[in-house]
Amino acid sequence: MNTNRLIKELTKVSKLNGFSFDDIGDDHLYTGLETPMKPDAFLISDEEKKEKIAILFKEIMDVMGLDLTDDSLKGTPKRVAKMYIDEIFSGLNPNNKPKIALFDNKYQYNQMLVEKNITFYSNCEHHFVPIIGKAHIAYISSGKVIGLSKLNRIVQYYAKRPQVQERLTNQIAEELKTSLQTENVAVIIDAKHLCVSSRGIKDDTSATVTSYYGGEFNTPEKINELLNYLKG
Ligand SMILES: [Zn+2]
Repeated sequence: MNTNRLIKELTKVSKLNGFSFDDIGDDHLYTGLETPMKPDAFLISDEEKKEKIAILFKEIMDVMGLDLTDDSLKGTPKRVAKMYIDEIFSGLNPNNKPKIALFDNKYQYNQMLVEKNITFYSNCEHHFVPIIGKAHIAYISSGKVIGLSKLNRIVQYYAKRPQVQERLTNQIAEELKTSLQTENVAVIIDAKHLCVSSRGIKDDTSATVTSYYGGEFNTPEKINELLNYLKG
């Protein structure tokens, strides 16, 4: 897309739920469970994406007036491109989804299993600055179990996308339900959004907590039991 067309697209008067993007400002809207992707998202390879992003990021830096011939800045466009595709946004590519193997619940462990304090780094899709937090996951086996590290890997995969916390919570929950073949899953996420703490309202002490309680978890008793595990 040429630059003029791109600018036209971006400045088109769009309305979301009756509000223009100017009205919405810094408020974060969550439009659905699926990460909004174009149908042709994977027609070009990761290598081609990195090349394109490097060119475009160089342009952003150039527009801001940075001297791209300076030794310190020279390599930045390529570094950013590589970091976007291979690391912080690698969860956009379904090829990077963790392979989940199910095992029989041989120990006959029938209580909730809690994997807590899973540290993750994501990025806010409205500002492209970090979301840093902890995810706590629980499930009650339907007769099948997965390796514990897979729970962490599922969190990391969905975190490595431009995100909103509500969607991240629900995407992890849906993945757990599908992988573990049960509705009995819970996800709690407690995170700091740098778009809130380092700019805008600049509130460094607030954090955002979201939760999903599916199946048997959706009772006050089970929620209490889970919250007790998280306290310890
Ligand atoms: Zn944000």
